[in-house]
Amino acid sequence: MSKTIYFIANWKMHGNYNSIKEIQKVLNFLKKKTTYGFKKIIFCPPLNLLSYFEKKIRNKLIDFGAQDISKVNLNYGPYTGQLSGKMLKDVGANYVIIGHSEKRILDEDNVTIKKKINSALKNKLKIIFCIGENISQKKMGLSIKILKKQISQSLEKKIVNFDNIIFAYEPIWSIGTGIVPANDYLNKIYKKLNIFLKDKYKVKTPIMLYGGSVTPDNVASLGNISLISGFLIGGASLKAKSFIKIIKNYYI
Ligand code: PEP
Repeated sequence: MSKTIYFIANWKMHGNYNSIKEIQKVLNFLKKKTTYGFKKIIFCPPLNLLSYFEKKIRNKLIDFGAQDISKVNLNYGPYTGQLSGKMLKDVGANYVIIGHSEKRILDEDNVTIKKKINSALKNKLKIIFCIGENISQKKMGLSIKILKKQISQSLEKKIVNFDNIIFAYEPIWSIGTGIVPANDYLNKIYKKLNIFLKDKYKVKTPIMLYGGSVTPDNVASLGNISLISGFLIGGASLKAKSFIKIIKNYYI
């Protein structure tokens, strides 16, 4: 059976109302293609734009996600600055990015991430769970150890439906740097992650993405890594032109 391939656009702190035209161009591209089945395009714009974009675009071909969720596992309450999973659902998010290294650097540790994951799952949001080592951890040969730790300290063993968790391996040294790991290195990482998730969490088929400087030029080579189910894309997702170049080989 063919697996679903994910293309997730992480817009970070970019975009304005005008940027909807970029998503519309992607939608126009998709409408001309044989798109049914096995592909998922998900845009994660900043929250101020999410509801507007989702309402204007609402379409089977493109889905939407948020870039953060409150760790407070309540629908409403006296928590200034927080947005609950229920609120994210209300503004049209079906997915949420959790554990991104740019958030980890600011204020997210594994304990916080665990709370956010539980809150998202309670609200039936699918999770894009980012993990990744930094360059010094890589140089010390600690990559897989770090990834296992990030997962173990954030995921409850009792989570049964792993269809709702998309693991995005994003080596920190690759994000926004133009440096992409060699396929040999990635193959080793994904094989080890796969074994770990199957052994420890009994995940039948983990959904694992790659993120870090994905561009139209390197996506084909990265796509040769058999355990990858798609990509989390930052910079190259901001303009329809480069995003379409990334996805186009996957559409007939
Ligand atoms: C990201 O931050 O999730 C990311 C993959 O960024 P970029 O593609 O710009 O490296």
